[in-house]
Amino acid sequence: MARTRASTPVLAASGETPVTVLPGVGASVAAKLQARGIGSLQDLWLHLPLRYEDRTTLLPIRALKPGLPAQVEGRVEAVERGFRYRPMLRVAVSDGSGGTLVLRFFHFRAAQVAQFTIGTRLRAYGTPRPGQHGLEIVHPSYRVLGEGEEPGLGEALDPVYPAIEGIGPATLRKLIGQALERLPDEAALEVLPPALLAGMTLPSLRQALLTMHRPPADVDLAALAAGTHPVQRRLALEELLAHHLSQRRQRIALQRQRAPALRGRDGLAKALLDALPFRLTAAQRRVFDEIRKDLARAHPMLRLVQGDVGSGKTVVAALAAMLAVERGKQVALAAPTELLAEQHLANLRGWLEPLGVRVAWLAGKVTGKARGKVLEEVASGHAQVVVGTHALMQDNVVFDDLALAIVDEQHRFGVHQRLALRDKGAAAGVVPHQLVMTATPIPRTLAMAAYSDLDVSAIDELPPGRTPVQTSVLSAERRPELVERIRLACAQGRQAYWVCTLIDESDEVVATAAQNTYETLSAQLPELRIGLVHGRMKAAEKQAAMRAFKVAETHLLVATTVIEVGVDVPNASLMIIENAERLGLAQLHQLRGRVGRGAAASSCVLMYQPPLSAMARQRLETMRQTNDGFLIAEKDLELRGPGELLGTRQTGLAAFRIADLARDAALLPAVHALAERLLRESPAVADRVVARWVGGAARYASA
Ligand code: ADP
Ligand code: MG
Repeated sequence: MARTRASTPVLAASGETPVTVLPGVGASVAAKLQARGIGSLQDLWLHLPLRYEDRTTLLPIRALKPGLPAQVEGRVEAVERGFRYRPMLRVAVSDGSGGTLVLRFFHFRAAQVAQFTIGTRLRAYGTPRPGQHGLEIVHPSYRVLGEGEEPGLGEALDPVYPAIEGIGPATLRKLIGQALERLPDEAALEVLPPALLAGMTLPSLRQALLTMHRPPADVDLAALAAGTHPVQRRLALEELLAHHLSQRRQRIALQRQRAPALRGRDGLAKALLDALPFRLTAAQRRVFDEIRKDLARAHPMLRLVQGDVGSGKTVVAALAAMLAVERGKQVALAAPTELLAEQHLANLRGWLEPLGVRVAWLAGKVTGKARGKVLEEVASGHAQVVVGTHALMQDNVVFDDLALAIVDEQHRFGVHQRLALRDKGAAAGVVPHQLVMTATPIPRTLAMAAYSDLDVSAIDELPPGRTPVQTSVLSAERRPELVERIRLACAQGRQAYWVCTLIDESDEVVATAAQNTYETLSAQLPELRIGLVHGRMKAAEKQAAMRAFKVAETHLLVATTVIEVGVDVPNASLMIIENAERLGLAQLHQLRGRVGRGAAASSCVLMYQPPLSAMARQRLETMRQTNDGFLIAEKDLELRGPGELLGTRQTGLAAFRIADLARDAALLPAVHALAERLLRESPAVADRVVARWVGGAARYASA
């Protein structure tokens, strides 16, 4: 996508310099960077580390502690190559301190194996975990040392950057380092007038960036890990300001556009209401009314419907769709996974086809002739409602007259995808209405800040007759009891989930944990058919496993958190979440929402690894006490504090580089005040702030 800058002000000019000025950045590297939205030096400055690795010291192997990353040096004592379920390489290293450490690899090249001869000196870094033979590090970073080679230890902490496809971590570090060499001086870099920041005692932008990328060995690492270091607050302030300004602009721009006014008779919506086997809740009625009023206007709606899992958002979307279909227009409904989209398809077909409404299906796996036929029906207007996945957003999908674009679980899509769908209905100055839905409620206090570009409705009531999920909190020592509970539930014809979580680990490690759990449970519960789903599986394998569970071919599904969205299996009435203490409230709530969907009483067991931190204890206790997503969201905001936040940006909100709405909520009043002043006194500065942090300004301005 071309990056168009609204303005190229003199002050920020050096930041606008394209990455291609850096040595070694040719067209191919530039394209890979661009795929992640990195086009200028400034974009590289703002590609901030996810975390840091401390290679400033060496630890004796004997002193390693599970879970605490460290650097060690030692000699290869033994090497074992095996195949259990896939290739594996184990290298035992010792350093004379009386300890042995195992380095374990699942992916390796022959050249690597050849390196590890007995006696070879290695320096390795990683996070040790208890393994079969003492502590082990899976996929450590390491280097082979020659005899007598004594490389110095680092003086600053090593940044670990969010990965960019096709560019190795070392190259990325080098590129960012080179970009930082060109960081202009303080005055040239700063965009915000000093008067605006007066009284806030925050470091300069230059200092903030340098500290983030190259924290000195004596930096307050705890504050940095918690995201509360003053340099992070400085960056978060500017980023939040940029987003807020950009959202205010978008809203104004949107309200200037025109959309088809969908008013008049509501025959189809009424017919649907009459045909439903249930009555709408008061909250559903209220939200539908809000949507109906929006749709009747000749300006595009952009409304977010927040509703807890199971609150019944789909039927509200279906009713909204009827307002468009009634007037001869088309509706698109996109969901982030095929499974979820299929569920919508089944629901909508069940509800709408008896009313004579034609519902079409478009997903990645609809191919060949079938695809051609669907595309034709969409283009001719024969298909009135089109349900699908990302496939709906592709260029070759052309609508005859799209008046309403509905996006479910909107946070799983990018803004650009939502806009791509919207653009399919854009013609001659008219754009379609947009309805986005999410099951991740956010506290009212934050909704304003998070979504100042759209209107928000809340379905804050569950349909009657649901039995609330009973939640209990158990130490992992009581695992055997849980195995018995699963046996019992499944013997009674129910199904269960076993969720494996290791939040701060790579997919690889989590997949291994899930695989191990799967094997252990298979051995303990031989009478059950057990499925497995994790992020390392191919999409088709994942879907097959999910589908098998949905049609009750499997009794128990062992899964990583990939199941949090999309599975609706009313017969599943038991969920066990391992290491629940590692998850945030929002994610626990999402996971738990997978049970309690049928008439049977359901339960959720939050299993934890003692000892529990005070904060984790409060989170689990909150989960035990309430099923109310909005309450949980408020509590989440209250609890999320220092030391708990690393890697847990899971509110499902806009993807910030550094800001975290929950953590940085206290900055919001300052952000709003700054925005007011900037817009009033120096709109050109506002442009610059938006361009720096949000980019793609021209595209966003018409959202
Ligand atoms: P979510 O908001 O999580 O997307 P769904 O739209 O999937 O929830 O609805 C969950 C279930 O509740 C569906 O089976 C739906 O048909 C049912 N449902 C929706 N509204 C009501 C209602 N007012 N009364 C009873 N059941 C309802
Ligand atoms: Mg839903």
